Amino acid sequence: MRISTRLKITTLLPLGIALVIGVIITYAFIRTDEALKRGEVAEEIVLDVSELNALTLYYLLHHEERPKLQWRMKYSSLTKTLERIGFSDRESRALFDRIRDNLTAMGELFSRLVASYEARPGSGSRAVRAPLQERLADQLVLRSRAVSSDARRLALMSTASLETTQQRAYLLTFLFTVLLALVVAATSSYMSRTISRSIERLRSGTEIIGSGDLDYRIGMQADDEIGELAKAFDAMTAKLETTTVSRDELAREVAARKSTEERLKETLADLERSNKELEQFAYVASHDLQEPLRMVASYVQLLERRYRDRLDRDADEFIAYAVDGAARMQRLINDLLAYSRVGTRGKPLAPTDLNSVLGQAESNLKAAIEESGAAITHDTLPVVMADETQMVQLFQNLIGNGIKFRGAAPPRIRITAERSGGEWRIGVHDNGIGIDPRHFDRIFVIFQRLHGSGDYPGTGIGLAISKKIVERHGGRIWVESQPGKGASFYFTIPAIPEEARNPSWQTTITRG
Ligand code: ADP
Repeated sequence: MRISTRLKITTLLPLGIALVIGVIITYAFIRTDEALKRGEVAEEIVLDVSELNALTLYYLLHHEERPKLQWRMKYSSLTKTLERIGFSDRESRALFDRIRDNLTAMGELFSRLVASYEARPGSGSRAVRAPLQERLADQLVLRSRAVSSDARRLALMSTASLETTQQRAYLLTFLFTVLLALVVAATSSYMSRTISRSIERLRSGTEIIGSGDLDYRIGMQADDEIGELAKAFDAMTAKLETTTVSRDELAREVAARKSTEERLKETLADLERSNKELEQFAYVASHDLQEPLRMVASYVQLLERRYRDRLDRDADEFIAYAVDGAARMQRLINDLLAYSRVGTRGKPLAPTDLNSVLGQAESNLKAAIEESGAAITHDTLPVVMADETQMVQLFQNLIGNGIKFRGAAPPRIRITAERSGGEWRIGVHDNGIGIDPRHFDRIFVIFQRLHGSGDYPGTGIGLAISKKIVERHGGRIWVESQPGKGASFYFTIPAIPEEARNPSWQTTITRG
């Protein structure tokens, strides 16, 4: 049962009992009042009847008009008094009816008596009338005695009923007051027992859960408000447990990720170190190979010069192969050296105006531009943090390829610049032979070419170097093209944030 319902019952029950006590007291008051009134009326009747008796006697003695009138007045007031009351119990009513009948009879007797006295002298002899008057007077007295005795009995009965009513009212009031006290004591003890026990269970439960035991459940089955609170508490603990479990899982995952990240960092550092070592090795190897190779090449060329046509034809052919091989090897070693130098010999990045970089690249390519009739146009290019020499090399490689891999029409090369978020996207577009998308990745690998050196000269190092330069600057490089439709090479380079730009940088920009 809900606490609010229990509270209502415990309030309404004593109220109901108090109401009953009130009704009893009111009823007792009404009954007492009635009994008192009846007692008073009965007393009045006794008095009036005795007065009537006196008046009767007086009239019998004096036969005067005044006592006759007084008798009649008293009689009429007595009958009015009788009309004022009524009785509920049978015995009183019977008595009352008898009083009324006797009084009516008394009225008649008195009228007959008066008539007998006031009869004309000729209507009968005095000797005849005297016994009749005597008889009537006796009857009158008898009746009035009966009325008096009945009225007295009535008064006594009213007093008795008053006492009984009062006793009953006292008894009932006492009983109900005791009942009221018992009910109040019982309900309040029941309420305090049930509620305080539930609250105590809830309190100890919260203490256990609060100490960290999330498996604990209060498990109260009561369907009252405290029961609901306990159920809500259990549900909350269950949720808390789930959340804690998922939080623990999350913490474990974060720890696992952290350790993976650590390992990744270590691997990355290892990779960087081995990359550096490899670069160093490539540089040292290519650099140190240059000297003996130069010697081989010079001596083979010397052999060619001195012994051409002095040995047989095969010897001339072999020497020519050796000269060519040595020359190609020299080119490859030079390219390798240039490639490894991107990482090992790079200069620190500084604000660099790409318009000026483009100008330098164009001037380095002057001969090829003039020979091919190439037209080069460009957007206004930004200032970026870069190694200027490497940027010149990058533009030179991309524009040089645009000229080299031209189609039938004279080369048209356009350089674009677009800002996208925190970086610039530079595009070098040409109208040359284009590239099959299948080879997009391959062309950026060192010494990878799509054409024989007979068709287009080169060793396949240009784009590999370009990629390395872009990556050193924190960017990406890629190509978009279709065979026969020209190629667009794009690279990105981080933009200088607005707030980092300051006038001192602008002044360090080298133009031309
Ligand atoms: P190389 O120019 O010495 O061949 P690159 O690394 O510069 O070496 O280029 C690799 C290959 O990519 C080239 O052999 C060529 O097939 C292709 N390539 C590069 N640039 C272009 C271009 N603009 N148009 C068509 N093909 C190109």
